Amino acid sequence: MSDITKLTISQTLDGLKSKKFSATELTKSYLSEMEKNRNLNAYVLETPEHALAQATVADANYAGGSPRALEGIPLGIKDIFCTKDIRTTACSHILDGFVPQYESTVTSKLFADGAICLGKLNMDEFAMGGSNENSFYGPVVNPWHPERNLVAGGSSGGSAAAVAANICAAATGTDTGGSIRQPAAFCGVTGIKPTYGRCSRYGIMAFASSLDQAGPIAKDVRDCAILLQSMAGYDAKDSTSVNKEVPNFLSSIGQSIKGLKIGIPAEYRPQGLNQEIANYWEKGIEILKQAGAEIVDISLPHTKYALAAYYIIAPAEASSNLARYDGARYGLRVDGKNLDDMYTNSRTEGFGAEVKRRIMIGTYVLSAGYYDAYYLKAQKVRRLVQNDFTEAFKKCDVILTPTTPIAAFPIGDKSMRENPINMWLNDVFTVSVNLAGLPAMSLPIGLSKDGLPLGLQLVGRSFDEETIFKTAAIIEQEAKFERLK
Ligand code: GLN
Repeated sequence: MSDITKLTISQTLDGLKSKKFSATELTKSYLSEMEKNRNLNAYVLETPEHALAQATVADANYAGGSPRALEGIPLGIKDIFCTKDIRTTACSHILDGFVPQYESTVTSKLFADGAICLGKLNMDEFAMGGSNENSFYGPVVNPWHPERNLVAGGSSGGSAAAVAANICAAATGTDTGGSIRQPAAFCGVTGIKPTYGRCSRYGIMAFASSLDQAGPIAKDVRDCAILLQSMAGYDAKDSTSVNKEVPNFLSSIGQSIKGLKIGIPAEYRPQGLNQEIANYWEKGIEILKQAGAEIVDISLPHTKYALAAYYIIAPAEASSNLARYDGARYGLRVDGKNLDDMYTNSRTEGFGAEVKRRIMIGTYVLSAGYYDAYYLKAQKVRRLVQNDFTEAFKKCDVILTPTTPIAAFPIGDKSMRENPINMWLNDVFTVSVNLAGLPAMSLPIGLSKDGLPLGLQLVGRSFDEETIFKTAAIIEQEAKFERLK
């Protein structure tokens, strides 16, 4: 029964409730699809025994008539979420063999609601990257035209590819500068980065703590709402988690957007913007207009500085967060003639090139003498970027932009590999949102002329994921994007 792996979460829940199939049958179908799709390299660890044990519990709960919200839904978990007794490495060599003694809050909420863990998903090392080529376990292959060997996007490339290829019902992701939205766009699936503070960061390996946020990657808008409902909520274990009531996200879907003001930022239409992407953006605008929304031109004047500020702030925080990996406490240890030597050897061997680059940039911008020139300036720019959004949201309710300036590119692409700045430029439409802490979703709008998915991004006010959900549902309904079968 491979067809059941193509269902959305809401369809799967219906099937389980009406006993069309059991959670065990469903899980077995996913496990067999995972085996057939190992060429994608989406999973870095499969946990079949664990999954089947959870499925048995789910079946008992269905039989007993008391299923939980996500009872029996098989998920893939990005390898950055600590999972108790299940190896978690953030796809870094330095965390070889690390088995957490605790569960991240987000995954524990999902499992408490009855979700099943199929395994751990590939990602860029410590979530640093935009193509999933920085994983110690090798790149993920985009499931659209696997023969063309294209990137899945990053850093949550395993998550987006697994959802697109129907080898999990949905997945968890994290987004520091676009890592949920960009791979979702490249793989033709839907993902939302919630407002900073909406989901707990407890038990998620930290990259840049003031930017990192967890969120779902799923087959459609409704599934994102279902998953976010379970993932979100205040957690005393994360001091930046916000104590705010979690609204019912599902109830936004199907609501009218008549009179809603959609902001179109001039700065997201740079000269030379890819014509296909510009056309799809226009299509999105047209759909919303037809549905009764009002289109308003807005300006986010500091957009052009956002990428530079991000690539100072994120490495600064990363260099500090990654200091804990010293060879003594977790994972890999490479001995030396004394303690300092052991630290050096472990970190030299344990970290990949991109992570080292960020540690060096981060240490530099935080060092005495350069702190004022770089880090402090970047923080000021961050405030200006936030202020831009505050002003814009006086004129509109939600902002519509493309998610990425290009579609998925080949694995090993020379211009990206040889010049890291070219890779970083792909984040131009996504990073401002993280600097401002706002919620944003990417959803597929159509295929490029050579058959690759392209995405649109919706950005909302702080803690207003609901407007994103209701607007996205309309675009989805009209765009009629066909997922991979
Ligand atoms: N591509 C961005 C980076 O490399 C974003 C990564 C992320 O969101 N984790 O930093």
